[in-house]
Amino acid sequence: MAWFKKTEETETHVENDNSALTSIRQTLEQIHLPAQVQSTAEKELKRLEQIDPSVAEFTIGMNYIQLILDLPWTQRTPNTLDLDQAEAILDREHAGLQHIKDRILEYLATNVVFLSQAFRILVVDDEQITRENISHILSKEKYQVQTAQDGTEAMDILAEHTFDLVITDLKMERVDGMELMERVKQEKPGVEIILITGYATVDTAVNALRGGAAHYLSKPLNLDVLKRTVKDISQRRQPMRMAGPILCFTGPPGTGKTSIGRSVAAAMGRQFIRLSMGGLRDEAELRGHRRTYAGAMPGRIISEMRRVGVNNPVIMLDEIDKIGQDFRGDPASVMLEVLDPEQNKAFLDYYLDIPFDLSDVLFITTANMPENLPKPLLDRMEILPFSSYSVEEKKRIALHYLAPKQIRQHGQSPEHIHFSEAALECIIKDYTREAGLRNLEREIGALCRKINRRILKKEVTTPVELNVEDVHDLLGPARFMSEAAQAGNLPGVTTGLVWTESGGQIIFIETARMRGNGQLILTGSLGDVLRESGQTALSYVRSQASQFGIDETIFEQSDIHVHIPAGNIPKDGPSAGITIAIALISLLTGRPAKRDVAMSGELSLSGRVLPVSGVREKILAAQQAGARVAIFPKQNERMAKTLEDDVLNAVELYFADSVSSVIDVVLEAPEP
Ligand code: ADP
Repeated sequence: MAWFKKTEETETHVENDNSALTSIRQTLEQIHLPAQVQSTAEKELKRLEQIDPSVAEFTIGMNYIQLILDLPWTQRTPNTLDLDQAEAILDREHAGLQHIKDRILEYLATNVVFLSQAFRILVVDDEQITRENISHILSKEKYQVQTAQDGTEAMDILAEHTFDLVITDLKMERVDGMELMERVKQEKPGVEIILITGYATVDTAVNALRGGAAHYLSKPLNLDVLKRTVKDISQRRQPMRMAGPILCFTGPPGTGKTSIGRSVAAAMGRQFIRLSMGGLRDEAELRGHRRTYAGAMPGRIISEMRRVGVNNPVIMLDEIDKIGQDFRGDPASVMLEVLDPEQNKAFLDYYLDIPFDLSDVLFITTANMPENLPKPLLDRMEILPFSSYSVEEKKRIALHYLAPKQIRQHGQSPEHIHFSEAALECIIKDYTREAGLRNLEREIGALCRKINRRILKKEVTTPVELNVEDVHDLLGPARFMSEAAQAGNLPGVTTGLVWTESGGQIIFIETARMRGNGQLILTGSLGDVLRESGQTALSYVRSQASQFGIDETIFEQSDIHVHIPAGNIPKDGPSAGITIAIALISLLTGRPAKRDVAMSGELSLSGRVLPVSGVREKILAAQQAGARVAIFPKQNERMAKTLEDDVLNAVELYFADSVSSVIDVVLEAPEP
């Protein structure tokens, strides 16, 4: 605490505190705070002057005033949004993700248009041709432009309409530019002025600026300079209010959501803040505690605003679907209050207890499972889905982005260390199992450290070319195996594809038959929907037993057990229907099921295969697990065909409309 020096002597103590109070008073006088804030701070200061500095209340009060002084009530990063530059930044830092980048650029473009459209300019010049030229140029930039032929007409128009900027010629008949400027400054103090003259001398320029002109341009007019000057003024004057819905990035971890958010901030020249909402349990964590509580502090939002020192950062609210279930207070209404520009104009932190304007903050949210969001919140959001990367995409991104980045971060240059494509593929397949890129990046980092060590020990010399053997040698035995490719085929065990919040996954469905009386046992912590899929699959197989060559009496004399291992996968959803049905047919006919054929499809009681979601993620999961074939419902075919070639070629795809049509694809041929 800068204002409070801890010392043994009480005398010095008081003196320091007095000087601290004096310095706060001086700061208060110098900086320009909004009226309500200023008066609250002054009131608090007066109160503190009456209090003995050794009591806790004094410290609490000092901390409070310090917060008020530190907060960016008016400080902001100037708007420097340039769409071409924004696009370049997004491309420089991210491979692919074209639809996301496009959507973000559209979003920013809309706001640029919105910003310039709302900016009103009055052009005053007695030469018609100049007037029209300037008006034409600025209208093309989407500003609202009106013209006047001299100062008198300009004053009449100004009396009736509101403008942000007046661009005026200096020499005009009747009321000239200087006089117009003086009158505007008196009668319309908020309006900015640009003076233009053919008689450019240093003196007139200085006088103009002294008189309050924002800028001074000389004839012949350089149109680019004019455009730039107007843009600067419009950006300085107008906060970049974000129009439209709140963007919500969804998708598995490591697919680039945070990093795109960071690039959006960089593209806009703004500060970036990431706030994790995961497991947030108390409204007070966001909004702070009232100062009457012992140890009260401001909430996270106000604390972060204080830290960055500007009131228009980009704030990424991460994992808003993970706000703790036991959240005290109503998470949706707090989130809406923070995110809605109408409400967040006066965001109230309980500790600060003065409304703080958050409406210039650009909020971006992320969620793994947006369906879990409260409806009122979901309605205000535009969902931008990020999806898993294929092995090919991962390889490309690793080669061009992740490896060079990690190599640099480890003090080397990409010319000195080179990962071969085969080495990268080996890291992707044998050492990571993920939808995104986090572990891949981490493993590349680990390899860079190991190589650095070898270089220092003079075991290798640069340039180092890393191949598959080096990866195995440095990272140790492979951590993942191709489960689907390597497990043996068995009767009653099939490979399914599911979609979880961390991307697609494979599961094995195991079935067993034992003597009994027709019971179905379902285990593996299954949800209700999956249990019903199990029932439906059994009823279907039973009803069609003769078609599949199954002895119908088996059902009365046996119990059937369906088990889905893999403990960490949440098991619900209808898409395992066909996988269970085929497992049962395999079990009851004794024909082993091919493990490298993975499938996903909802099953109707009549054996029709109904569409599922997450096809892209599931294909990629099948590829990762080493499956050769993936079966999906026929109704998913049209959508699937629109996927990128990398994904379509990842495994052999098969589209089915009935269970019977895929039996021979999955099961081994019957013994002759
Ligand atoms: P998320 O926020 O979705 O969990 P991150 O943004 O943290 O994911 O991404 C993990 C890492 O992968 C980061 O280093 C990021 O830069 C990198 N990354 C993700 N997607 C891409 C991409 N398309 N191109 C380049 N790098 C990427």
